[in-house]
Amino acid sequence: MNKTKILIIEDEPSISDNIEYALNTEGFEPVSVHAGQEGLQLLKSANFALIILDIGLPDLNGFDICKEIRKTSNIPIIFLTARDSEVDRVVGLEMGGDDYVTKPFSPRELTARVKAVLRRTNGKQPTVNNLTNAKFKIDSDKRKINYYGEALPLSHYEYEILTLMIKNSGKVFSREELMKAIWDTPEMSMDRTVDTHIKTIRAKLNKIKQNKNPILTHRGFGYSLES
Ligand code: CA
Repeated sequence: MNKTKILIIEDEPSISDNIEYALNTEGFEPVSVHAGQEGLQLLKSANFALIILDIGLPDLNGFDICKEIRKTSNIPIIFLTARDSEVDRVVGLEMGGDDYVTKPFSPRELTARVKAVLRRTNGKQPTVNNLTNAKFKIDSDKRKINYYGEALPLSHYEYEILTLMIKNSGKVFSREELMKAIWDTPEMSMDRTVDTHIKTIRAKLNKIKQNKNPILTHRGFGYSLES
């Protein structure tokens, strides 16, 4: 039987050992490396389902590794963060990660996140192939959205938010509705998380077509997509 392979990039052996143990117990096949370059190399040679990525590494930092990976792959990434300032960067700069866990964490909490992210990214989405409206085209098999014929480079959450809004063009979503529909643990997210993602989606849309801004703000309530 093929086990699901998970790559752990974490330089503290005590932490990676714990994670490995917990993942093994849950039936995964974890592989640990202790530096960024090593992780990037390994990714080229083996098929992993998910990456657990520490931010503070001896060579490259986790953000740079994530950027590098995102050039070629949508593989789910869970960041391990050590400080609040790192959480701010993960959330605020939209690094393209799928989730994050703050140290110290329990291995059980992390494996729960791993499972949640895998469930989410393994096509639990209702399949709407090539759903089109005038400007957007969703390819749900590839998890890609085209905007005026150009591919949008979206993170996991950005893709989910935009897909939901495209399928419900004109509907006004409150931040809470978006959070509940899209995040696995909405209670652990912050209000500004939604705003941050909307902001990054807008920037990406604007890069393709300037001054269109199809996402409307409903002050004090939420957002809708122009129908
Ligand atoms: Ca570290």
